[in-house]
Amino acid sequence: SKDAGGGKFHHYEPQLHVAAEERRVLEQALRKALTNDELHLTYQPVVDAGSGLLTGFEALVRWTHPELGPISPVKFIPLAEDARLIGPIGEWVLRSACAEAANWPGDARIAVNVSPEQLHNPGFVAVVASALANSGLPARRLELEVTESVFMRDDTGAVKVLERILDLGVRLSLDDFGTGYSSLGYLSRTRFSTIKIDRSFVIGASKKVPEAIAIIRAVVALAQSLGMATTAEGVETEDEHVMVQQLGCTKVQGYYFGRPLPVEEARVLAQRAAYN
Ligand code: C2E
Ligand code: CA
Ligand code: CA
Ligand code: CA
Repeated sequence: SKDAGGGKFHHYEPQLHVAAEERRVLEQALRKALTNDELHLTYQPVVDAGSGLLTGFEALVRWTHPELGPISPVKFIPLAEDARLIGPIGEWVLRSACAEAANWPGDARIAVNVSPEQLHNPGFVAVVASALANSGLPARRLELEVTESVFMRDDTGAVKVLERILDLGVRLSLDDFGTGYSSLGYLSRTRFSTIKIDRSFVIGASKKVPEAIAIIRAVVALAQSLGMATTAEGVETEDEHVMVQQLGCTKVQGYYFGRPLPVEEARVLAQRAAYN
């Protein structure tokens, strides 16, 4: 405002204004994105590190705004979380991913990202059950990816929701491990199948940064002793692949093995994997 009076905030004010305006515009557009059919899913291959065989795909949401073009989920997912739109958007992602994957040949798993907000809603269990029932996808083929931040605030509700999801026969993986919350207590309370190691550690390890190597080693050892698999995320090069394989990661995901693909291409790949 005019009476900001040369204080230290004065210089930044126009910027903040633009950001707030942009947010408001994007938020309104996002409200319409679902009904206007502007969202779609892409599928990134997840590969067994030893055999190189496809184990499944991670569903990644895409938003193409009619005028603004493609908008990254890095931008609109946090916006959806703030604007209380993540419930309906997350439900759409889950139902669509289950329906599309149910049509693929073979046993490929389908991993779906779930925001903390969704897990703090007890109704989410019924949404998962209904997505499975409506699509006919076997529960064992569905994996939900959650981040450590779920366990940050009062997590008793979320832990119960996760338990009831496990009871359905759905798997859980722990996404972006090591980038958020630092307590490990929740690992003994919730049964994860897989720990996903963030790309930042993969980059570090391939550059021989001792700390990154030590962290991957420790996470792999921890996962092994808890009976969990490990997926190295964001593997872009052969060097990175060799490194994470040597460090004992059981699965790999990244541009080196495949970019997020349109559903038709994912279905073809799933078919090939089924006959491998
Ligand atoms: P994420 O769950 O960690 O997903 C992995 C991200 O890394 C994806 O970005 C993927 O395209 C990207 N990636 C994969 N391989 C490579 C690689 O080799 N190199 C590099 N540099 N990047 C790679 P994307 O699709 O932009 O998604 C970003 C984030 O948005 C996701 O991170 C996830 O947190 C969130 N997100 C995406 N879809 C959904 C969704 O349906 N629901 C929720 N709640 N979040 C989602
Ligand atoms: Ca993920
Ligand atoms: Ca991740
Ligand atoms: Ca990430």
